[in-house]
Amino acid sequence: MRATALRCIRCGLESPLDGAFTGCETCAEAGKPSNLQVIYDEAAFDAAALRVRGSSRAPSDMWHYKELLPIDDEHIVSLGEGGTPLLHVPRLGRKLGIPNLYVKDESRNPTGSFKDRLAAGAVSAARQLGRKVVVGSSSGNAGAAVAAMAARAGLPCVMFTTQQFPLAMKTQMGVFGSYLLAAPTVQDRWMLMETGVQRLGWFPTTVFRYPFFGSNCYGIEGYKSIGYEIIDQSAVTPDHIVFPVGAGDAFSGAYKGIAEYARAGAVDRIPVMHAAEVFGPLEAALAAGLDTVEAIDTAGATSVAVSVGSNLSTYQALDVLLRTGGSARSASNEQMIAAQLDLAALEGLWVETSSALSIAALSALVESGAIDPDSVVVAVLTSSGLKDPDVTADVLPDIPTVAASFESALAVLDESYAFDPHHPARQQA
Ligand SMILES: [Zn+2]
Repeated sequence: MRATALRCIRCGLESPLDGAFTGCETCAEAGKPSNLQVIYDEAAFDAAALRVRGSSRAPSDMWHYKELLPIDDEHIVSLGEGGTPLLHVPRLGRKLGIPNLYVKDESRNPTGSFKDRLAAGAVSAARQLGRKVVVGSSSGNAGAAVAAMAARAGLPCVMFTTQQFPLAMKTQMGVFGSYLLAAPTVQDRWMLMETGVQRLGWFPTTVFRYPFFGSNCYGIEGYKSIGYEIIDQSAVTPDHIVFPVGAGDAFSGAYKGIAEYARAGAVDRIPVMHAAEVFGPLEAALAAGLDTVEAIDTAGATSVAVSVGSNLSTYQALDVLLRTGGSARSASNEQMIAAQLDLAALEGLWVETSSALSIAALSALVESGAIDPDSVVVAVLTSSGLKDPDVTADVLPDIPTVAASFESALAVLDESYAFDPHHPARQQA
């Protein structure tokens, strides 16, 4: 569906459909940066939402929702992203005391992360708006997704990165034929990207201005499909949805999708949406009653969650928490790794450490009373464990060696794993 304008999430100021995508300039000048969002003719949109809602319990991909996205058919660029499963995880749920726990497994996307939805929305919009070059700044998942989608579109892609990030992500970002450039620091790569956007009209696909306001609003339209899918795939409307949140693009997009469904009368209510974060900028903003998010002094702290380990978040994320009554909670490196291993060993899902944050933060959300453990909870798992395998490999034990005799194998099974083949029932969580 053709959009009618872009509108500031904070002040409501409208701007044309094409621009520099540097967020709302009025709010930026006031020192309170805010993203824009894509808006539509409400009556036409609501009618379309009612048609699409529930037309499939198993949407094939995110373009199942193309009537609710701002891209004309001839400009859609796709690798089949979206349509990821919503899985009940009863064994993990039992361990956590949340029997109705579900996960939205975004690791199934074409490049292994939810960023494929952002890339599909943004690169399709670049084509629709006649832009000739797409640009991004990334340390991994977004870079891979945008590079792949640009290759699919036949559009040149300039990607600014640094040298410090996992080998698997570096390889994946490099293989799709984008023009990859390593800048000295993260701040430098944002500055370089913004210069390309302002001076040469490159189409921005990721975060690039600090303090952040968020990513390209057409990319965030792609993320709406996570919200639509969670509602369409659920037998009953979930009570709570938990996301790992950095800049909060997907968090904001998924909320926008569900809120659009709700406005159209296509869903009975909007779940409470919670942010799982590393350093806690949203938790601090909520606690202080702020209407903006301030940077946290991390004092050299490092996080295993490379994809969301930011000391700052955005107004677009805070807005979701305020509108749904959600909370923000953090988890330690140890809790994230424990959640990652539990997801894998109990449910067969190996996700990136950053993704396991949405599981790791559940205990704190339950303990604080933000989540009733008997409610229906969806945790979003954003990307695959193959993105950063070294973090996991470091905590796994060495593989025990056996002699070429079955007796030796049985003895080592007992010694190393306490596994008794005569009583093979797997340990219950
Ligand atoms: Zn504004």
